[in-house]
Amino acid sequence: MHLDSVGPMHRFDAATAAMAQQVLDYTYERLRLDPVPLDRGLAPTELAARVPDSIINELGNDADHVLTLFAEALAPAVISCDSPRFLAFIPTAPTKASLLFDMVVSCSSLSGISWLEAAGAVHAENQVLRFLARLAGLPQSAGGCFVSGGSAANLSALVVARDTARQRAGAGGPHRWQLAVSEQAHSSIASTARIIDVDLLVVPTRSDDHLTGDAVATALSAEGQAESICAIVATGGTTNAGIVDDLAGVGAVARDRGIWFHADCAYGGAALLAPSARDRLAGIELVDSFVVDPHKWLFAPFDCAALVYREPELARRVHTQDASYLDVIHTSETEWNPTDYAYHLTRRARGLPLWFSLAVHGWGAYRDAIEVVLDVARAAAARIEAHPTLELVREPELSIVLFRRPGWTPADYDRWSHELLAAQIAFVTPTKWKGETVARLAFLHPETTLDIVDEILATMT
Ligand SMILES: *Cc1c(COP(=O)(O)O)cnc(C)c1O
Repeated sequence: MHLDSVGPMHRFDAATAAMAQQVLDYTYERLRLDPVPLDRGLAPTELAARVPDSIINELGNDADHVLTLFAEALAPAVISCDSPRFLAFIPTAPTKASLLFDMVVSCSSLSGISWLEAAGAVHAENQVLRFLARLAGLPQSAGGCFVSGGSAANLSALVVARDTARQRAGAGGPHRWQLAVSEQAHSSIASTARIIDVDLLVVPTRSDDHLTGDAVATALSAEGQAESICAIVATGGTTNAGIVDDLAGVGAVARDRGIWFHADCAYGGAALLAPSARDRLAGIELVDSFVVDPHKWLFAPFDCAALVYREPELARRVHTQDASYLDVIHTSETEWNPTDYAYHLTRRARGLPLWFSLAVHGWGAYRDAIEVVLDVARAAAARIEAHPTLELVREPELSIVLFRRPGWTPADYDRWSHELLAAQIAFVTPTKWKGETVARLAFLHPETTLDIVDEILATMT
């Protein structure tokens, strides 16, 4: 087959130029939307009718047509996670700078596997990782890489914890390894345990729901227990309620017993930047590894999680892939290969959108935006406390607010949630707290106002 018959897919010809303009126009308009419409999902049959499978065919379609289908049929069927009215799960609120630079990362095909291929990109990503390590109080020798999400980061870190424990234990290791966790730990920790085939030792939390050093020490005091623990996992901001475990207490116990200490701060790690909440993360400087998701509260686009190890060398020993065609990237001790610090190989330089935005705006702008969110969450909690028919479940520690409408059944919460979305007031989903269905607001977008909160609360009478 001759190249000419393949067509111009890889050439910048007139059709490509027109397509580039259309796509840039679309992204320009999407960036400009203020506010972003919340939108809502569609049934599979409706989507199939709007965008039939025949769109994928042998000869292709006009770019204009395909882009219009996306813009008019598909995009509105996606709830905008970056809407200030998205208060379910954990939202996202990428800066414009980070979104724009994400296009640069894509258009430049920036891979971030190795120093050999991507020295410039890796250098910039490492600046951000060092910044985060410094915020946490880790030594400047700390390091790691960006992975796709908190789940991938937890898995990668805990593989290192297990293998390091195995190696230290040598032949005298336990029959089964365990991870010590609290019942509030993120679901990805249980999933990690299944994948790496270790057991969970679920440590009960105090009456105020924090995992503490005392509770961990008590759980480890049982015969043979401490020797079988390959890592203790604390959470810096639980996903359901924003509870920050006693990192200092848990970290001290881990240090004392020589056990790996991992802090999952996927959501709450952003509070490292917030003077009004930083104290809650005291003790994070004791970790062997920690995770923070910039695609959550550090205003980066999907998908971006930062994984930092106190001693990256331990991770490198575990994760470096061995293949003859990779030998060339492993010739120098001083060249940093992100691929060696998690279970991945090929990776996009997904830390760069955050790098660009941080460099443009400065971390002071991030600090201020995070404080704005904390303020709104606290004010929302105060509104609920003062409300005649609503009850606050617990004082928010970070930016997640749990509350109840006494008298409502789970079905009432579900109906309320559907109606709020149908009216495009907000996307809010109920959760369970100690077995009870309650309402949950996850604040993360600096543009979520108290007026929006009032609109939501007004629907709960
Ligand atoms: C969101 C979250 C995760 C999972 O992160 P993903 O990026 O969704 O994979 C893990 N731990 C905590 C505490 C989280 O909030």
